[in-house]
Amino acid sequence: MARVIAIFNMKGGVGKTTTSMNLAAYLAMRGKKTLLIDFDPQFNATIGLGVAHAPDETVYHALLAGQDVERVVKPTYLTNFHLAPSSADLAGALIELVYLPDREQYLQHFVEKVRDRYDFIFIDLGPNLNLLTVNGLVAADEVIAPIQCEYFSLEGLSQLLQTITLVRENLEHPLKVTGALLTMYDKRERHSREIAREVRRRFPHRVFDVEIPRSVALAEAPHYKKPIMLYAPLSPGALAYEALADEVLREAYGVLAAEGVPPAPPAPADYPQYPRLDPTAEHSL
Ligand code: ATP
Ligand code: MG
Repeated sequence: MARVIAIFNMKGGVGKTTTSMNLAAYLAMRGKKTLLIDFDPQFNATIGLGVAHAPDETVYHALLAGQDVERVVKPTYLTNFHLAPSSADLAGALIELVYLPDREQYLQHFVEKVRDRYDFIFIDLGPNLNLLTVNGLVAADEVIAPIQCEYFSLEGLSQLLQTITLVRENLEHPLKVTGALLTMYDKRERHSREIAREVRRRFPHRVFDVEIPRSVALAEAPHYKKPIMLYAPLSPGALAYEALADEVLREAYGVLAAEGVPPAPPAPADYPQYPRLDPTAEHSL
């Protein structure tokens, strides 16, 4: 049964899509069956992963036009990694959903249909707070919030937590904050270091140990329609997302241990080691 994790921050351009694509890809490389649902009408994840689909094979069509879920879930370049693509049609869902009963639960119904096939399902949300975002949060068990290391992020922290509280209380949905993730961190800049320290001090939930550095390869990879591991696997951004995947997995083992299952070895070195992929090789579906 999959852990369903929404990547959420109402603030735009903080690294939600970059995190969704690359965290999902590294978990798939670690052998976890992973689905990324692109739930943003900007469909950046769909473009960035270069997944081909017919115009009526998107998450919008599965939610509101009766399309078969099987036709919407697509393979990517990587084994174990599937994508439910988005398109600009999803913007129309905002208007259509308003008039429908249980309008907050459409994505949740979609997730329930595929949940038992995966270990992880990520939902990449857009930068707004609207009915689509609420659908994404209601469909998820957990939230990871990328926080860009810049001043305005601190301003947005309380708004972010308030939104999660609203979903918990008004929609009676027990949403867990798995963690905040510091993104676009530049350790050479004092400002960046100060913001990172302040987020760690102020954020009342876990802040991941891993900090995602500002790394040009992360911005370039989507142009080549590849996750970072296929584009520049030794770049600082790639290594950081790989370490993040291990941190997420370590936490999962912690959850299992709490439930009485014997703990798995804690150190990343003890996980099955997959050979690094050759970024220059040709990959096909
Ligand atoms: P939106 O709110 O519009 O959905 P987002 O939160 O999904 O945006 P991204 O699209 O992931 O943010 O990132 C915004 C821009 O910053 C993109 O051009 C992306 O390639 C770039 N970017 C993201 N993370 C990094 C990083 N660590 N280093 C350098 N560039 C980055
Ligand atoms: Mg995005």
